[in-house]
Amino acid sequence: MVAKYSVVIPIFNEELIINETYSRLKEVLDKINEPYELIFVNDGSNDSSHKIIFEICKIDPHVKLLDFSRNFGHQIAIGAGLDYAEGEAIISIDADLQDPPEVILEMIRKWKEGYNVVYGKRVRRDGDAFLKKVAIKIYYRLLRTLTNYDIPADVGDFRLIDREVCNIIHNLPEKNRYLRGLVTWIGFNQTFVEYARRGRIGGESKYSLAKLFHLAISGITSFSYKPLRLASYIGIILSICSFFYLVLVIYLRIANDIPIGGWASMTATNLFFYGIVLIILGIMGEYIGKIYEETKNRPLYILKGKKGFK
Ligand code: UDP
Ligand code: MG
Repeated sequence: MVAKYSVVIPIFNEELIINETYSRLKEVLDKINEPYELIFVNDGSNDSSHKIIFEICKIDPHVKLLDFSRNFGHQIAIGAGLDYAEGEAIISIDADLQDPPEVILEMIRKWKEGYNVVYGKRVRRDGDAFLKKVAIKIYYRLLRTLTNYDIPADVGDFRLIDREVCNIIHNLPEKNRYLRGLVTWIGFNQTFVEYARRGRIGGESKYSLAKLFHLAISGITSFSYKPLRLASYIGIILSICSFFYLVLVIYLRIANDIPIGGWASMTATNLFFYGIVLIILGIMGEYIGKIYEETKNRPLYILKGKKGFK
């Protein structure tokens, strides 16, 4: 039977919680009384996650497994799940139950009302440290200012999309997957349901600071080229300032005969401006890197194996 609902769960070293996540999801989806599939995407875990999912696959035909050849990252793992999902409505959810599976029922209700995309919007984040919460708040505001799309704040990758949106994502040629942005960019009828985000049921966050930073930069560079304009703006402002300063220096020298001296101030200003130049070069480098990634045309991920698919 073809599944009507697909649930995509990315997994990176989650051996402690997979069984519980599976039973909670199963409990929720069994209530709907319509065919469904649970697609676990093993993103190169090096613990026993693969084995656990494999065992579940053997006893439950609803469960399917995509096994990556290495760790490709959370966004790519969700993307792979979307590629293989067969449902009319596709839900992506983290494995750690920070997003309560019961909310899926609400999402499905909204979908049945005719929405193509239903985001899960976090009204509380119990699970995150204070500093992380502040950083995330600032980041989302920045992202919204920099991009021209109304990427909603406080939504993560817990969302439902319908078949049409899923097909569009599947057929996008771009390699860079910042799904939160892409889904907003695609449009159609979008809405959200609110929920409180809890702490993890077990294990540690699999998003290292480096990965989080990478995701943040990728979000900005995929949807805005405004940072590139920074160079022009700073350049213009600095040229104007230094022009007036030059005039002042000449005036002081001629009119008052005050010598302007000091290599220390010279070094300080030089270092300051070198810093700015390097930052701008770095920003340009980010975009060039993006172009490089796109032109290589490598597949987004490599599968080592799969189970449960026809
Ligand atoms: N994850 C993944 N690949 C990674 C990092 C994380 O598939 O490289 C998965 C992880 O197993 C979890 C989800 O992505 O199901 C969200 O990760 P996590 O809960 O660690 O992120 P946080 O909630 O702390 O932002
Ligand atoms: Mg989490």
